[in-house]
Formats: sequence, C-alpha cells, structure tokens
Amino acid sequence: MLQMSRRQFLKVTATSLAGSSLALMGFAPDNVLAEVRQYKLARTTETRNTCPYCSVGCGILMYGLGDGAKNATASIIHIEGDPDHPVNRGTLCPKGASLIDFIHSPNRLQHPEYRAAGSNEWKRISWDEALDRIAKRLKEDRDANFVEKTADGKTVNRWLTTGMLAASAASNEVGYLTHKVARSMGLLAFDNQARV
Ligand code: SF4
Repeated sequence: MLQMSRRQFLKVTATSLAGSSLALMGFAPDNVLAEVRQYKLARTTETRNTCPYCSVGCGILMYGLGDGAKNATASIIHIEGDPDHPVNRGTLCPKGASLIDFIHSPNRLQHPEYRAAGSNEWKRISWDEALDRIAKRLKEDRDANFVEKTADGKTVNRWLTTGMLAASAASNEVGYLTHKVARSMGLLAFDNQARV
C-alpha cells in the first residue's frame, strides 16, 4: 500500500488537479513536449567574412541578431567556417573557431587612439581626426621622400619611406581599389595580412 504523509498527499492532489484542469483547457503535454526545438540561428542575419588572424585567410560565416531597428542592439552570436569557401571549405583552426571571444573581448580596440611623441598615454580621438592626421603625415612624408628619377636618370616614381598593411576582411573590390591607391602614390612596401 502506498504510504504518504499529509503534506505529500496534498502535493500530489494539487498537481493532479492542475494537470486535469490544463487538459480540460486544451493543453496537450505530449504535443508540446514533442515540438522540435527552434534552430538557434533561425532569426539571425548571415554575413560572410574572412578570419583576421593569419595569412591562410579562411572564410567565415558570422550570424548576428538585431534587424537594424532603432531599438534593437545588434550582436554577433555565432561564427563558423564557410563551407563554400575554397580555402577552408567550412573548417577553422582552434584560433579561428574562437573568433566570437575576440569580437566580444572587453580588451578589443574599437576606436582610434593617439599617443603623442614622448608621452606614455594613449588618448582616444575621433575617426575624422585620425584620418586627417594620417592624410597629413602621408603627404608630408611623400613630399619629402618621393623619388621621381634615379641618379642615372631612370624614371621610377617611387616612395620608399612609408608602407601600408591592408586588412584581411576587405572584399576583392576593396582590395583592388586599395592596391590602386597604394601603387598610384608610388608605395612599394604594401602587403595584406591575409594572402587572399
Ligand atoms: S581559421 Fe586559423 S588557419 Fe584559418 S585564417 Fe583563421 S587563424 Fe588562420
């Protein structure tokens, strides 16, 4: 015979009553529990990109929440290898597979900073200020060091005192334009972090 205390009896009775009331109202636990769990990336936006870490240049798929509405905060929630990418065909090394941590790291640099000569402090500056400074310094250096002809009269139009490192996540089109800009200024020291 089933032995139960008064407290246990009350608990069982209350649970049964609640269950039968829900059943009367149309709640069918079997159907609810059998529902397929929603795919976690169902409401995300997929963006193709390139892993920024090494020169292999593996393709990645980034999944972001937030549809661009004013009250929605966009956030990358998942990253995986791009199965259609010819370099990695969906695979990522451990470093690339942990990219999500890099994106959300509190130590990630997200704004331009400037350290004045002789100072040990980095100061946050605006993008406009940063770009103006870069353009000004490039022009000063190019004006001072551009070589139009060698000593024996050969035209070379080269600028050897400045170099440029382009970003891995640039598209083919951006890469092409960046190359054109660098070469048209006479820059020879020009490289891309990913060889893509
Ligand atoms: S996933 Fe690994 S191998 Fe591929 S680019 Fe990133 S760091 Fe390099």
